[in-house]
Amino acid sequence: MFERPRGTRDFNPSQAASHRYVERAFRRTAEAFGFREVLTPTFENAELFKAKSGPGILEEMFTFKDKVGRELALRPEFTASIIRFYNSELRSEPKPLKVFTLGNCFRYEEPQMGRYREFWQWNCEIIGAPSLESDSDVIALADAGLKRVGLMRTELRIGHIGMLRKFLAFPQQDQGILLHLLDKKRFTDLRTELARLESEQFFDVVSSVAQLKGGPEVLDRAQELLGEAAKESVEYLRMLGGQLALYGIKDFVYDLGVVRGLDYYSGMVFEIDSPNLGAEKQVGGGGAYILTNVLGGEVTSSTGFAIGMDRVVLSADQEGIKMAAKPLDAYVIPIGQAMRPKAFEIVMQLRTAGFSVDVDLMGRGPSKNLDYANSVKARNSVLIGEKEVAKGAVAVRDMESGKQIEVAVRDLVAALMGGTETEVRKPGRKSTRRAPKP
Ligand code: AMP
Repeated sequence: MFERPRGTRDFNPSQAASHRYVERAFRRTAEAFGFREVLTPTFENAELFKAKSGPGILEEMFTFKDKVGRELALRPEFTASIIRFYNSELRSEPKPLKVFTLGNCFRYEEPQMGRYREFWQWNCEIIGAPSLESDSDVIALADAGLKRVGLMRTELRIGHIGMLRKFLAFPQQDQGILLHLLDKKRFTDLRTELARLESEQFFDVVSSVAQLKGGPEVLDRAQELLGEAAKESVEYLRMLGGQLALYGIKDFVYDLGVVRGLDYYSGMVFEIDSPNLGAEKQVGGGGAYILTNVLGGEVTSSTGFAIGMDRVVLSADQEGIKMAAKPLDAYVIPIGQAMRPKAFEIVMQLRTAGFSVDVDLMGRGPSKNLDYANSVKARNSVLIGEKEVAKGAVAVRDMESGKQIEVAVRDLVAALMGGTETEVRKPGRKSTRRAPKP
Protein backbone atom coordinates (compact mmCIF):
# COMPACT_ATOMS: atom_id res chain seq x y z
CA MET A 1 0.00 0.00 0.00
CA PHE A 2 1.18 3.52 -0.76
CA GLU A 3 0.35 6.65 1.15
CA ARG A 4 -0.43 10.08 -0.22
CA PRO A 5 2.21 12.76 0.19
CA ARG A 6 1.71 14.71 3.41
CA GLY A 7 -0.73 17.59 3.12
CA THR A 8 -2.46 16.28 -0.04
CA ARG A 9 -5.96 14.85 -0.31
CA ASP A 10 -7.92 12.44 -2.49
CA PHE A 11 -11.42 13.58 -3.41
CA ASN A 12 -14.08 10.86 -3.55
CA PRO A 13 -17.01 11.39 -5.98
CA SER A 14 -19.04 13.34 -3.47
CA GLN A 15 -16.08 15.51 -2.39
CA ALA A 16 -15.14 16.07 -6.02
CA ALA A 17 -18.74 17.11 -6.72
CA SER A 18 -18.56 19.68 -3.90
CA HIS A 19 -15.29 20.99 -5.24
CA ARG A 20 -16.70 21.33 -8.77
CA TYR A 21 -19.88 22.95 -7.45
CA VAL A 22 -17.84 25.73 -5.85
CA GLU A 23 -15.62 26.02 -8.89
CA ARG A 24 -18.67 26.36 -11.15
CA ALA A 25 -20.17 29.04 -8.91
CA PHE A 26 -16.92 31.01 -9.03
CA ARG A 27 -16.43 30.64 -12.78
CA ARG A 28 -19.98 31.75 -13.56
CA THR A 29 -19.74 34.72 -11.22
CA ALA A 30 -16.46 35.85 -12.76
CA GLU A 31 -17.98 35.60 -16.23
CA ALA A 32 -21.04 37.53 -15.08
CA PHE A 33 -18.68 40.32 -13.97
CA GLY A 34 -16.94 40.41 -17.36
CA PHE A 35 -13.77 38.56 -16.32
CA ARG A 36 -12.13 36.14 -18.77
CA GLU A 37 -10.33 32.98 -17.80
CA VAL A 38 -6.58 32.54 -18.26
CA LEU A 39 -4.43 29.50 -17.53
CA THR A 40 -0.80 29.63 -16.47
CA PRO A 41 1.72 26.85 -15.81
CA THR A 42 1.59 24.74 -12.68
CA PHE A 43 5.32 25.34 -12.22
CA GLU A 44 7.40 28.42 -12.87
CA ASN A 45 11.00 29.48 -12.49
CA ALA A 46 11.50 29.79 -8.72
CA GLU A 47 13.05 33.21 -9.37
CA LEU A 48 9.62 34.65 -10.26
CA PHE A 49 8.21 34.02 -6.79
CA LYS A 50 11.44 35.18 -5.19
CA ALA A 51 11.20 38.46 -7.11
CA LYS A 52 7.62 38.94 -6.02
CA SER A 53 7.70 37.88 -2.39
CA GLY A 54 11.36 37.93 -1.33
CA PRO A 55 13.77 35.03 -0.71
CA GLY A 56 11.78 33.89 2.35
CA ILE A 57 9.23 32.39 -0.04
CA LEU A 58 11.70 29.63 -0.94
CA GLU A 59 11.08 28.04 2.46
CA GLU A 60 7.36 27.90 1.74
CA MET A 61 7.53 26.39 -1.73
CA PHE A 62 8.02 23.03 -3.36
CA THR A 63 11.11 23.68 -5.43
CA PHE A 64 13.04 21.27 -7.62
CA LYS A 65 15.66 21.26 -10.32
CA ASP A 66 14.95 20.08 -13.84
CA LYS A 67 17.39 17.84 -15.70
CA VAL A 68 19.62 20.71 -16.76
CA GLY A 69 19.64 22.30 -13.33
CA ARG A 70 17.04 25.09 -13.67
CA GLU A 71 15.43 25.88 -10.34
CA LEU A 72 11.66 25.51 -10.63
CA ALA A 73 8.81 25.83 -8.15
CA LEU A 74 5.26 24.54 -8.01
CA ARG A 75 3.14 27.70 -7.95
CA PRO A 76 2.26 28.81 -4.42
CA GLU A 77 -0.26 31.35 -5.83
CA PHE A 78 -1.37 32.87 -9.13
CA THR A 79 -0.73 36.60 -9.04
CA ALA A 80 2.97 36.31 -9.88
CA SER A 81 2.21 34.16 -12.93
CA ILE A 82 -0.57 36.43 -14.14
CA ILE A 83 1.58 39.55 -13.84
CA ARG A 84 4.49 37.76 -15.57
CA PHE A 85 2.07 36.81 -18.37
CA TYR A 86 0.77 40.38 -18.48
CA ASN A 87 4.28 41.87 -18.74
CA SER A 88 5.35 39.49 -21.48
CA GLU A 89 2.22 39.12 -23.60
CA LEU A 90 -0.99 40.69 -22.34
CA ARG A 91 0.05 44.29 -21.80
CA SER A 92 -1.20 45.45 -25.18
CA GLU A 93 -4.69 44.05 -24.54
CA PRO A 94 -7.40 46.71 -24.15
CA LYS A 95 -7.60 48.06 -20.59
CA PRO A 96 -8.81 47.24 -18.13
CA LEU A 97 -7.76 43.63 -18.39
CA LYS A 98 -10.11 41.58 -16.25
CA VAL A 99 -8.92 38.01 -15.83
CA PHE A 100 -9.49 35.07 -13.52
CA THR A 101 -8.08 31.63 -13.01
CA LEU A 102 -8.95 28.58 -10.95
CA GLY A 103 -6.50 25.88 -10.01
CA ASN A 104 -4.28 24.13 -7.53
CA CYS A 105 -1.43 25.76 -5.64
CA PHE A 106 1.28 24.25 -3.50
CA ARG A 107 2.83 25.46 -0.27
CA TYR A 108 5.16 23.69 2.09
CA GLU A 109 3.03 24.25 5.18
CA GLU A 110 2.27 22.44 8.39
CA PRO A 111 -0.96 20.68 7.40
CA GLN A 112 -4.08 21.05 9.53
CA MET A 113 -7.82 21.44 8.97
CA GLY A 114 -8.19 24.03 6.19
CA ARG A 115 -4.45 24.22 5.55
CA TYR A 116 -2.95 21.85 3.03
CA ARG A 117 0.14 21.48 0.92
CA GLU A 118 -1.99 21.27 -2.20
CA PHE A 119 -5.03 23.54 -2.22
CA TRP A 120 -7.16 25.36 -4.77
CA GLN A 121 -7.58 29.06 -5.38
CA TRP A 122 -9.93 31.28 -7.34
CA ASN A 123 -7.86 34.26 -8.37
CA CYS A 124 -9.23 37.40 -10.07
CA GLU A 125 -7.36 40.50 -11.19
CA ILE A 126 -8.19 43.82 -12.85
CA ILE A 127 -5.02 45.18 -14.41
CA GLY A 128 -4.63 48.73 -15.66
CA ALA A 129 -7.62 50.49 -14.15
CA PRO A 130 -6.58 52.40 -11.04
CA SER A 131 -9.98 53.48 -9.85
CA LEU A 132 -12.42 53.29 -7.02
CA GLU A 133 -14.76 51.46 -9.37
CA SER A 134 -12.22 48.70 -10.06
CA ASP A 135 -11.61 48.21 -6.37
CA SER A 136 -15.32 47.95 -5.71
CA ASP A 137 -15.91 45.69 -8.73
CA VAL A 138 -13.32 43.26 -7.38
CA ILE A 139 -14.74 43.28 -3.85
CA ALA A 140 -18.26 42.86 -5.24
CA LEU A 141 -17.07 39.91 -7.35
CA ALA A 142 -15.57 38.13 -4.34
CA ASP A 143 -18.74 38.77 -2.37
CA ALA A 144 -21.01 37.62 -5.21
CA GLY A 145 -18.94 34.44 -5.73
CA LEU A 146 -19.42 33.41 -2.11
CA LYS A 147 -23.12 34.30 -2.24
CA ARG A 148 -23.52 32.21 -5.39
CA VAL A 149 -22.07 29.24 -3.53
CA GLY A 150 -24.83 29.94 -1.01
CA LEU A 151 -22.71 31.01 1.95
CA MET A 152 -24.71 33.14 4.36
CA ARG A 153 -22.20 33.73 7.11
CA THR A 154 -19.12 35.50 5.88
CA GLU A 155 -17.43 38.61 7.18
CA LEU A 156 -16.01 41.11 4.74
CA ARG A 157 -13.37 43.38 6.29
CA ILE A 158 -12.01 46.33 4.35
CA GLY A 159 -9.02 48.50 5.18
CA HIS A 160 -6.48 50.75 3.51
CA ILE A 161 -2.75 50.26 3.71
CA GLY A 162 -2.02 53.87 2.68
CA MET A 163 -2.59 55.43 6.08
CA LEU A 164 -0.05 53.22 7.89
CA ARG A 165 2.44 53.55 5.06
CA LYS A 166 2.22 57.35 5.32
CA PHE A 167 2.43 57.34 9.10
CA LEU A 168 5.30 54.85 9.32
CA ALA A 169 7.48 56.79 6.89
CA PHE A 170 10.59 54.64 7.35
CA PRO A 171 12.81 53.27 4.60
CA GLN A 172 10.96 50.59 2.63
CA GLN A 173 12.63 47.62 4.26
CA ASP A 174 11.97 48.83 7.82
CA GLN A 175 8.42 49.77 6.93
CA GLY A 176 7.94 46.30 5.43
CA ILE A 177 9.00 44.65 8.69
CA LEU A 178 6.66 46.84 10.74
CA LEU A 179 3.70 46.17 8.45
CA HIS A 180 4.42 42.46 8.48
CA LEU A 181 4.35 42.45 12.29
CA LEU A 182 1.10 44.43 12.27
CA ASP A 183 -0.36 41.97 9.75
CA LYS A 184 0.45 39.08 12.08
CA LYS A 185 -0.70 41.13 15.11
CA ARG A 186 2.68 40.49 16.76
CA PHE A 187 2.50 43.57 18.96
CA THR A 188 5.39 42.71 21.30
CA ASP A 189 7.75 42.31 18.36
CA LEU A 190 6.32 45.49 16.86
CA ARG A 191 7.24 47.45 19.99
CA THR A 192 10.78 46.02 19.89
CA GLU A 193 11.16 46.88 16.23
CA LEU A 194 9.89 50.44 16.76
CA ALA A 195 12.34 50.78 19.65
CA ARG A 196 15.14 49.67 17.33
CA LEU A 197 14.08 52.46 14.98
CA GLU A 198 14.03 54.86 17.97
CA SER A 199 10.32 55.44 17.41
CA GLU A 200 8.66 53.62 20.30
CA GLN A 201 6.35 56.62 20.72
CA PHE A 202 4.46 55.41 17.61
CA PHE A 203 3.56 52.12 19.21
CA ASP A 204 0.34 53.15 20.98
CA VAL A 205 -1.06 54.94 17.94
CA VAL A 206 -0.18 52.25 15.44
CA SER A 207 -1.35 49.34 17.53
CA SER A 208 -4.62 51.17 18.29
CA VAL A 209 -5.24 51.84 14.61
CA ALA A 210 -4.58 48.20 13.76
CA GLN A 211 -7.30 47.20 16.18
CA LEU A 212 -9.96 49.56 14.82
CA LYS A 213 -12.85 47.60 13.41
CA GLY A 214 -16.46 48.62 12.83
CA GLY A 215 -18.65 51.10 10.98
CA PRO A 216 -17.73 54.53 9.59
CA GLU A 217 -16.96 55.75 13.13
CA VAL A 218 -13.64 53.86 13.04
CA LEU A 219 -12.61 56.06 10.12
CA ASP A 220 -13.12 59.14 12.30
CA ARG A 221 -11.07 57.52 15.03
CA ALA A 222 -8.23 56.68 12.61
CA GLN A 223 -8.24 60.28 11.47
CA GLU A 224 -7.92 61.44 15.09
CA LEU A 225 -5.09 59.01 15.82
CA LEU A 226 -3.06 59.42 12.64
CA GLY A 227 -3.95 62.99 11.64
CA GLU A 228 -2.95 64.11 8.18
CA ALA A 229 -1.44 60.68 7.34
CA ALA A 230 -4.92 59.13 7.35
CA LYS A 231 -6.75 61.81 5.37
CA GLU A 232 -6.59 60.36 1.87
CA SER A 233 -7.15 56.76 2.90
CA VAL A 234 -10.10 57.66 5.09
CA GLU A 235 -11.72 59.68 2.31
CA TYR A 236 -11.14 56.82 -0.09
CA LEU A 237 -12.71 54.26 2.23
CA ARG A 238 -15.75 56.47 2.70
CA MET A 239 -16.22 56.73 -1.07
CA LEU A 240 -15.65 53.00 -1.45
CA GLY A 241 -18.42 52.36 1.08
CA GLY A 242 -20.74 54.51 -1.06
CA GLN A 243 -19.72 52.69 -4.22
CA LEU A 244 -20.24 49.25 -2.65
CA ALA A 245 -23.74 50.31 -1.64
CA LEU A 246 -24.51 50.55 -5.37
CA TYR A 247 -23.79 46.82 -5.57
CA GLY A 248 -26.08 46.24 -2.62
CA ILE A 249 -23.12 45.50 -0.35
CA LYS A 250 -23.72 47.01 3.04
CA ASP A 251 -22.79 44.17 5.38
CA PHE A 252 -19.06 44.83 5.66
CA VAL A 253 -16.87 46.29 8.36
CA TYR A 254 -13.95 48.66 8.13
CA ASP A 255 -10.97 46.89 9.64
CA LEU A 256 -7.86 49.01 9.74
CA GLY A 257 -5.87 46.03 10.94
CA VAL A 258 -6.06 44.43 7.48
CA VAL A 259 -2.50 45.01 6.44
CA ARG A 260 -1.54 42.10 4.15
CA GLY A 261 2.16 42.25 4.87
CA LEU A 262 3.51 42.36 1.34
CA ASP A 263 5.27 45.39 -0.03
CA TYR A 264 3.36 45.69 -3.28
CA TYR A 265 -0.06 46.43 -1.74
CA SER A 266 -0.67 50.10 -2.30
CA GLY A 267 -4.20 51.07 -1.30
CA MET A 268 -7.44 49.33 -0.41
CA VAL A 269 -7.00 45.89 1.16
CA PHE A 270 -9.67 43.41 2.17
CA GLU A 271 -10.15 40.00 3.72
CA ILE A 272 -13.10 37.68 3.99
CA ASP A 273 -13.56 35.27 6.88
CA SER A 274 -15.97 32.48 7.44
CA PRO A 275 -16.83 32.23 11.14
CA ASN A 276 -17.89 28.62 10.43
CA LEU A 277 -14.26 27.62 10.28
CA GLY A 278 -11.87 27.28 13.18
CA ALA A 279 -8.36 28.65 13.24
CA GLU A 280 -8.09 28.81 9.46
CA LYS A 281 -11.12 31.01 8.99
CA GLN A 282 -9.84 33.36 6.33
CA VAL A 283 -11.36 32.31 3.02
CA GLY A 284 -9.76 35.00 0.92
CA GLY A 285 -8.20 38.38 0.59
CA GLY A 286 -6.79 40.90 -1.79
CA GLY A 287 -6.48 44.56 -2.58
CA ALA A 288 -4.96 47.21 -4.80
CA TYR A 289 -1.33 46.66 -5.68
CA ILE A 290 1.48 47.56 -8.06
CA LEU A 291 3.58 44.58 -9.08
CA THR A 292 4.21 44.84 -12.83
CA ASN A 293 7.35 46.95 -12.23
CA VAL A 294 8.71 44.55 -9.59
CA LEU A 295 8.55 41.82 -12.25
CA GLY A 296 10.31 43.85 -14.93
CA GLY A 297 7.44 45.75 -16.58
CA GLU A 298 6.08 49.28 -16.46
CA VAL A 299 4.25 50.59 -13.41
CA THR A 300 0.62 49.50 -13.76
CA SER A 301 -2.04 49.57 -11.08
CA SER A 302 -3.92 46.39 -10.37
CA THR A 303 -6.48 45.15 -7.96
CA GLY A 304 -7.38 41.55 -7.24
CA PHE A 305 -7.97 38.76 -4.78
CA ALA A 306 -7.52 35.06 -4.13
CA ILE A 307 -10.16 32.93 -2.45
CA GLY A 308 -9.31 29.48 -1.12
CA MET A 309 -11.76 26.97 -2.55
CA ASP A 310 -11.02 24.28 0.02
CA ARG A 311 -12.07 26.52 2.89
CA VAL A 312 -15.17 27.60 0.98
CA VAL A 313 -16.16 23.94 0.57
CA LEU A 314 -15.59 23.31 4.29
CA SER A 315 -17.63 26.34 5.14
CA ALA A 316 -20.46 25.45 2.74
CA ASP A 317 -20.58 21.99 4.32
CA GLN A 318 -20.92 23.59 7.73
CA GLU A 319 -23.84 25.68 6.49
CA GLY A 320 -25.56 22.57 5.17
CA ILE A 321 -25.35 23.63 1.53
CA LYS A 322 -25.98 20.58 -0.66
CA MET A 323 -23.29 20.39 -3.28
CA ALA A 324 -23.96 16.84 -4.47
CA ALA A 325 -23.62 15.95 -8.12
CA LYS A 326 -26.84 15.69 -10.11
CA PRO A 327 -28.16 12.15 -9.71
CA LEU A 328 -28.82 9.86 -12.67
CA ASP A 329 -31.94 10.77 -14.62
CA ALA A 330 -32.51 7.13 -15.39
CA TYR A 331 -31.13 3.71 -14.64
CA VAL A 332 -32.01 1.19 -17.33
CA ILE A 333 -32.79 -2.38 -16.30
CA PRO A 334 -33.05 -5.12 -18.93
CA ILE A 335 -35.30 -7.92 -17.73
CA GLY A 336 -33.65 -11.06 -18.96
CA GLN A 337 -30.74 -11.69 -21.30
CA ALA A 338 -32.79 -11.24 -24.47
CA MET A 339 -33.66 -7.65 -23.58
CA ARG A 340 -30.03 -6.47 -23.17
CA PRO A 341 -29.53 -5.29 -26.79
CA LYS A 342 -32.75 -3.26 -26.63
CA ALA A 343 -31.66 -1.82 -23.26
CA PHE A 344 -28.36 -0.55 -24.67
CA GLU A 345 -30.17 0.94 -27.67
CA ILE A 346 -32.45 2.88 -25.34
CA VAL A 347 -29.56 3.92 -23.09
CA MET A 348 -27.72 5.49 -26.00
CA GLN A 349 -30.88 7.18 -27.26
CA LEU A 350 -31.37 8.82 -23.86
CA ARG A 351 -27.69 9.72 -23.41
CA THR A 352 -27.69 11.37 -26.82
CA ALA A 353 -30.79 13.32 -25.83
CA GLY A 354 -28.78 14.80 -22.94
CA PHE A 355 -29.90 12.73 -19.98
CA SER A 356 -27.48 11.14 -17.56
CA VAL A 357 -28.23 7.48 -17.86
CA ASP A 358 -26.66 4.27 -16.66
CA VAL A 359 -27.44 0.65 -17.34
CA ASP A 360 -27.00 -2.65 -15.54
CA LEU A 361 -23.51 -3.92 -16.32
CA MET A 362 -23.60 -6.79 -13.82
CA GLY A 363 -26.40 -8.93 -15.25
CA ARG A 364 -28.41 -8.61 -12.02
CA GLY A 365 -32.06 -9.52 -11.62
CA PRO A 366 -34.73 -6.77 -11.55
CA SER A 367 -35.09 -6.48 -7.78
CA LYS A 368 -31.33 -6.26 -7.14
CA ASN A 369 -31.16 -3.69 -9.93
CA LEU A 370 -33.92 -1.61 -8.34
CA ASP A 371 -31.98 -1.72 -5.06
CA TYR A 372 -28.95 -0.47 -6.93
CA ALA A 373 -30.97 2.32 -8.62
CA ASN A 374 -32.19 3.32 -5.17
CA SER A 375 -28.74 3.33 -3.67
CA VAL A 376 -27.30 5.54 -6.42
CA LYS A 377 -30.40 7.79 -6.07
CA ALA A 378 -31.45 7.51 -9.72
CA ARG A 379 -34.59 9.55 -10.33
CA ASN A 380 -36.17 6.93 -12.55
CA SER A 381 -35.66 3.33 -13.49
CA VAL A 382 -36.53 2.27 -17.01
CA LEU A 383 -37.45 -1.41 -17.08
CA ILE A 384 -37.08 -3.16 -20.42
CA GLY A 385 -39.43 -6.16 -20.33
CA GLU A 386 -40.36 -8.53 -23.14
CA LYS A 387 -44.09 -7.92 -22.83
CA GLU A 388 -43.77 -4.12 -23.05
CA VAL A 389 -41.13 -4.18 -25.77
CA ALA A 390 -43.46 -6.32 -27.90
CA LYS A 391 -45.86 -3.32 -27.77
CA GLY A 392 -43.05 -0.81 -28.45
CA ALA A 393 -43.10 0.32 -24.82
CA VAL A 394 -41.07 0.25 -21.57
CA ALA A 395 -41.94 0.70 -17.90
CA VAL A 396 -40.75 3.85 -16.14
CA ARG A 397 -40.61 3.85 -12.37
CA ASP A 398 -40.35 7.06 -10.38
CA MET A 399 -37.88 5.97 -7.72
CA GLU A 400 -39.11 8.43 -5.14
CA SER A 401 -42.83 7.62 -5.25
CA GLY A 402 -42.42 4.08 -6.50
CA LYS A 403 -45.10 4.80 -9.08
CA GLN A 404 -44.63 2.87 -12.32
CA ILE A 405 -46.17 3.67 -15.69
CA GLU A 406 -45.93 2.32 -19.19
CA VAL A 407 -44.43 4.67 -21.79
CA ALA A 408 -44.09 4.16 -25.55
CA VAL A 409 -40.40 4.04 -26.52
CA ARG A 410 -40.93 6.91 -28.96
CA ASP A 411 -42.31 9.03 -26.09
CA LEU A 412 -39.54 8.17 -23.63
CA VAL A 413 -37.43 11.28 -24.14
CA ALA A 414 -40.47 13.50 -23.84
CA ALA A 415 -41.66 11.54 -20.82
CA LEU A 416 -38.36 11.97 -19.00
CA MET A 417 -38.54 15.67 -19.84
CA GLY A 418 -42.08 15.81 -18.53
CA GLY A 419 -43.34 16.68 -22.02
CA THR A 420 -46.29 14.27 -22.12
CA GLU A 421 -49.14 13.77 -19.76
CA THR A 422 -47.18 11.00 -18.07
CA GLU A 423 -46.17 11.57 -14.49
CA VAL A 424 -42.48 10.97 -14.99
CA ARG A 425 -40.47 13.84 -13.54
CA LYS A 426 -38.31 16.21 -15.51
CA PRO A 427 -34.58 15.65 -15.45
CA GLY A 428 -33.09 17.91 -12.84
CA ARG A 429 -36.39 18.62 -11.11
CA LYS A 430 -35.80 18.75 -7.42
CA SER A 431 -37.97 17.17 -4.82
CA THR A 432 -35.85 18.00 -1.80
CA ARG A 433 -34.37 21.36 -0.90
CA ARG A 434 -31.03 21.85 -2.55
CA ALA A 435 -28.68 24.76 -2.89
CA PRO A 436 -29.40 27.11 -5.79
CA LYS A 437 -27.69 25.82 -8.87
CA PRO A 438 -24.53 27.81 -9.46
P1 AMP B 1 -3.11 34.06 0.25
O1 AMP B 1 -2.62 33.90 -1.15
O2 AMP B 1 -2.13 33.57 1.29
O3 AMP B 1 -3.67 35.43 0.53
O4 AMP B 1 -4.32 33.06 0.39
C1 AMP B 1 -5.58 33.32 -0.15
C2 AMP B 1 -6.52 32.25 0.32
O5 AMP B 1 -6.08 30.97 -0.11
C3 AMP B 1 -6.58 32.11 1.84
O6 AMP B 1 -7.48 33.04 2.40
C4 AMP B 1 -7.03 30.70 2.01
O7 AMP B 1 -8.43 30.58 1.87
C5 AMP B 1 -6.37 29.99 0.86
N1 AMP B 1 -5.16 29.31 1.30
C6 AMP B 1 -3.92 29.82 1.42
N2 AMP B 1 -3.05 28.88 1.82
C7 AMP B 1 -3.76 27.73 1.96
C8 AMP B 1 -3.45 26.38 2.36
N3 AMP B 1 -2.22 26.03 2.66
N4 AMP B 1 -4.44 25.48 2.39
C9 AMP B 1 -5.71 25.83 2.07
N5 AMP B 1 -6.05 27.06 1.68
C10 AMP B 1 -5.11 28.01 1.64
